[in-house]
Amino acid sequence: MTTAEHGPQSSAQHPEAGPSTEPQRLSGESPESHHEAASTAALTAEEGAACLGQPEELRKPPRQTTPIPDIDEARAAAHFADGASTHKLTVHRENGVFRHLEFTDLSGMSQISLITWPYNLLVTGSHGSYHFERFGPDTEDMLNWIRGSRPNPNSWAGKLVNGRQSVEEYDRTRLEREIRDRAAEAVQDGWAPVGLEAEVREEILDSHWMDDEQSALRLVSEFEFGMNYRSECSCGKSADHDSYSSADCWNLLTHKGKGDGHNVRIRQTEGFAFDDVAEWNIRKLDYHFLYQCHAAVWAVAQYDAARATELSATGGAAS
Ligand SMILES: [Zn+2]
Repeated sequence: MTTAEHGPQSSAQHPEAGPSTEPQRLSGESPESHHEAASTAALTAEEGAACLGQPEELRKPPRQTTPIPDIDEARAAAHFADGASTHKLTVHRENGVFRHLEFTDLSGMSQISLITWPYNLLVTGSHGSYHFERFGPDTEDMLNWIRGSRPNPNSWAGKLVNGRQSVEEYDRTRLEREIRDRAAEAVQDGWAPVGLEAEVREEILDSHWMDDEQSALRLVSEFEFGMNYRSECSCGKSADHDSYSSADCWNLLTHKGKGDGHNVRIRQTEGFAFDDVAEWNIRKLDYHFLYQCHAAVWAVAQYDAARATELSATGGAAS
């Protein structure tokens, strides 16, 4: 009998740190499906607590993540910062909160329309179409929702009818940050195999597989470095291996212990692998969505200014 106590997927944590769920790597398996498989093998909360000891032992300082300057957001904001007043506003329709407002750049290069109906706002134009819906005490007129506020694409993405995922995209920079930070942490904590960071750079960070989300995640989740496994038999014999499969085959091919006196366990004694890869935050809001959020705030301000001018011209009477 062979029992896996620690496995190749154990984690980017010290191999002796504690028991992990039983690893099963199947070739051709995606990171997501691996994650599911791992979840089904998870312990109950009580079992987990019993294995891991007192809660104090679980407390770790929060992982430091290197901040990433949001270049895309800054670029979108800059576009509207200098007034962007060379536009023409056309009110195609306006009946209470039923509106169709169109803003055209005088150069004719870009156009944005705001279409509103109760609790709904459609922002559409050259940079894409986004449909927001929000039911609240003050959002029957959705212009109130964005009027005078700072653009908040991160929060607004949650109000999209098509869902937040519809405006997210793979961000290689974020993935690289996760990889670098985790490898650096292992080095800092003193348990990384010698040469880890150079290996990570060569095998992952410099790889063209990083250009595509799926191949990048696969590359990262399959990365292993300096692995060592020990097969230990209850009869007292043991052997070290540099691969899990070799450790797994040791009893069958070499030790050949049979019966109750030969229970073999496998422990990971050294090595580094990334854990929970499927849970890393490696997505960002796409540039067109950021742009349209800033454009919408700008457009409402332009509309309000035009209405104010109109009202003063008619002596304050609502038209
Ligand atoms: Zn034995």
